[in-house]
Amino acid sequence: MKKEFVVIGLGRFGGSIVSELVELGSDVMAVDINPTLVDEYADIATQAVALDSTDETALRSLGIHNVEHVIIAIGENIQSSILTTLILKELGVPKLTVKAQNDHHEKVLEKVGADQIVRPERDMGVRVANNIVSNNILDYLDLSDEHSIAELNVNGKIAGDTLIDLDIRANYGINIVAIKRADDIIVSPRAEEKIQNGDVLIVIGSDIDIHHFEKKLFH
Ligand code: ATP
Repeated sequence: MKKEFVVIGLGRFGGSIVSELVELGSDVMAVDINPTLVDEYADIATQAVALDSTDETALRSLGIHNVEHVIIAIGENIQSSILTTLILKELGVPKLTVKAQNDHHEKVLEKVGADQIVRPERDMGVRVANNIVSNNILDYLDLSDEHSIAELNVNGKIAGDTLIDLDIRANYGINIVAIKRADDIIVSPRAEEKIQNGDVLIVIGSDIDIHHFEKKLFH
């Protein structure tokens, strides 16, 4: 069955979510208060509707309470973002993903029942900073304040070693959850797996351990 989504707010963030969900084969209703933006998405989204998402009657008339997942990508107008979240929660939408602008906004969204809160600018900043500090870190995803998943680009230094040779868990306190090799992905690699030049290691661990591992074996 096709997944159904509604995206409210068609700025750069919401707009790219609409395009990507459509690309992934989902039905997407695109909503914005600005009719010019709605027109831009008329040919991309399954359906595009101009309305004010703080207007409960307008939301009800869309049948939005039957949608399984709504993404609220309203940025600057924090009041509208919070009110929209509150209304959709009360209407019984099972899953709400909401973009937050800052810590205060995030706290209020938690209180009014947002299921998932995203901070795209902050998260992207963390990724870019990690990539700037180390060219070998391709991507970085915060799991908590202290733990992350990172993608590390293998250069010559450890190519040819097996995971058992490096004894990564014992020596560095991190786990390799997968290895990306060309178009393949080896999930939960065996201890005898030989690391090759050009592999990308996907590791999980504390930020300190990941950076220690990267410094020791990738420089
Ligand atoms: P970007 O994703 O481009 O960074 P942003 O964080 O600057 O966006 P805004 O541009 O403030 O966010 O808001 C995103 C979109 O949400 C805008 O296109 C705006 O018209 C829309 N929007 C704001 N308030 C409402 C509302 N009450 N109902 C529907 N859409 C709204």
